[in-house]
Amino acid sequence: MLKIEHASKTFHHKHGTVSALNDFSFEIKKGEFISISGPSGSGKSTLLLALGGMSHPDNGKVMWNNESIYNWELNKRAQWRAKEVGFIFQTFNLINYLTVYENVAIALNLAEEKVDRKRIIGILDKMKLSNRIKHLPNELSIGQQQRVAIARALIKNPSMLLADEPTGNLDPQTANDILKILKEINNEGKTVVFITHNPDLAKLANRNIRIEEGRIV
Ligand code: ADP
Ligand code: MG
Repeated sequence: MLKIEHASKTFHHKHGTVSALNDFSFEIKKGEFISISGPSGSGKSTLLLALGGMSHPDNGKVMWNNESIYNWELNKRAQWRAKEVGFIFQTFNLINYLTVYENVAIALNLAEEKVDRKRIIGILDKMKLSNRIKHLPNELSIGQQQRVAIARALIKNPSMLLADEPTGNLDPQTANDILKILKEINNEGKTVVFITHNPDLAKLANRNIRIEEGRIV
């Protein structure tokens, strides 16, 4: 489904260079449930952003069904991302002046799909947020904010969900609940890749990838 081939990415800092991806190759098959772990600064977020079409490797390729996504025009890649990739950011990236409902609706706008109220209410209901649709993000608990971010990622019915430490800011109980939701999403047939520092949560995936210094170990 998605392949990253011999990808390298180096960042240049004032005090030297950092190799965030180091000749990285890895293949994700449709329907997989994969965890990625590794020390802070090992390249996990860089990898996920590269897979999600948001960060161009310096060398190498990211292939979606045998097409190289970074060879596409910007518009085509943005469309692909809006339709196929649900991305969950560690810090949620909700828009603070929009309601819960509007934060989810905006993803349909970006994907140039009709804003279907029933569909939005349906997904918010599934995330147990139906009594919060008019709230602003800062009126919600952290776990609820994360569920809004998941609803926003799922509303376009993407084939793949990429989650960067989706439980990093959550207490253990809420973290478990979020993992359960990811598992359900995977059971419904979507490919799910998530980053975590928690070995107990990583174990719940069907495949565990460990990264150190921009390489799979
Ligand atoms: P992780 O998610 O595993 O903690 P990252 O992928 O965020 O690691 O970062 C890997 C390395 O690349 C780190 O040393 C980080 O400082 C560097 N890095 C990541 N993104 C940038 C950026 N946009 N600019 C400069 N350096 C970056
Ligand atoms: Mg990170």
